Amino acid sequence: MKEIKVEEVMTRNPIIIEKEISIMDAAKIMKIERIGSLIVRLSKNEYGIITERDIIYKVVAQGLDPAITKVETVMTFPIITIGPDLNLEDAANIMWKHRIRRLPVVSDGKIIGILTENDIIRLSPGLIEVTREVFEQTQPLVSGVRGYCDKCRKYDENLIYKAGKYYCQECFHKLE
Ligand SMILES: [Zn+2]
Repeated sequence: MKEIKVEEVMTRNPIIIEKEISIMDAAKIMKIERIGSLIVRLSKNEYGIITERDIIYKVVAQGLDPAITKVETVMTFPIITIGPDLNLEDAANIMWKHRIRRLPVVSDGKIIGILTENDIIRLSPGLIEVTREVFEQTQPLVSGVRGYCDKCRKYDENLIYKAGKYYCQECFHKLE
């Protein structure tokens, strides 16, 4: 799993929708495409994600009208993304740490794919469980992850993972 890169197993060209569309239209796209999530475009290099769970818990269960509720009001943002060169084991670690099942794959600011927990399970049914078991002990260093620093909350293109937290380059070097 350390040799297999995200790029090799991710789903390419995921469907990206605009943030102004209604939850009803988003649900229709999910049904037609038989997928459980959609990437939402916010601006040129910013994305959110909307999943079946968001629709069930944040719209239906709250009594909101799916025909007039916009995707942007219930989507998850900011989202954690990974680079195509990351290996699958590190990707599994990130999913586990953040309790998420999907990771958009970004290259040069563009979403080029999406990696789901199912993609990993299909290749290595034991990996997700194994990862959970060794997670606390090994505390691997992972880089190539984009997102928000757990310490200063600043956005960084190349976060470093250590002992359960992600750090920007600056905060990481202060740790040492
Ligand atoms: Zn920081």
